[in-house]
Amino acid sequence: MRNGAQPQSAILAARSARADRTRRFTERFHLPTILLTINVPGPDKNEPWVRVAMRWGEEAIRTKLAVHGCIVQAAEARRSAAGPEWRTAVAGRIIEGTNLKRLMIAVEETEPLGRLFDIDVFDGDGSAVGRSTLGLPPRRCLVCNRPAHECARSANHSPAELRARINALVRDADHEYSQGRSGKSRTQGGRAIDSNPLGAFVI
Ligand SMILES: [Zn+2]
Repeated sequence: MRNGAQPQSAILAARSARADRTRRFTERFHLPTILLTINVPGPDKNEPWVRVAMRWGEEAIRTKLAVHGCIVQAAEARRSAAGPEWRTAVAGRIIEGTNLKRLMIAVEETEPLGRLFDIDVFDGDGSAVGRSTLGLPPRRCLVCNRPAHECARSANHSPAELRARINALVRDADHEYSQGRSGKSRTQGGRAIDSNPLGAFVI
C-alpha cells in the first residue's frame, strides 16, 4: 500500500481506526501494551524515512524489553493514512504499565531517533499511561524545546523548518547506527534506507 499525501480528514479517520485497533488489542490480550508510531509533520505519514524510523524504533523497543526480562507476547504491524504503527502486548517481569512507560520514555530520550518516536503505553485494562501519570513534563518540541503540544497547536514552525530538523536527525542517526552503535543489526537498519521491504509493515 502506498499512501502519499492524504487529506486531514483521512488522517483523522485513520487515527481513530488505529485507536480502535489498540482497544481491541488490549481487550484481547489483557496485557500491558505498547504502541509505536512516528511523529511526522505534513500530509504524507508514510514517507520512506518513516519506515526506516519504525524499524529502528521497533528494534530499540524489543531490545529494551529483552534486557528487562519482558516477553513480546503478541505483536502486530499496520500502515494507514496515519502512518505505520506497531503494537505489542508485553508479559514477563514488568507487568505494570507505569514501569513499562518509564522504559519507553528511556527509549524516546536515548535513541538517536528517539525524538521522532511516539511510544504510547496502555495498562492491561486499556487505560493510557501518560507522562503526566508519572508526574513527568510533556515532550519537547523538536525545533525549539518548548512543550511540543504548544508548538503544534500554534503552528510555530513551518513545514520546511520541521523538515530540515528531521532530515538532520535522520542523517545523524544513520551515521551513528552505521558506526555500529549497538552492533550488527543497527548496520542493517542503516542499509534499509536504500532497500526497505515495504511489505514488512503490512499484515
Ligand atoms: Zn517549537
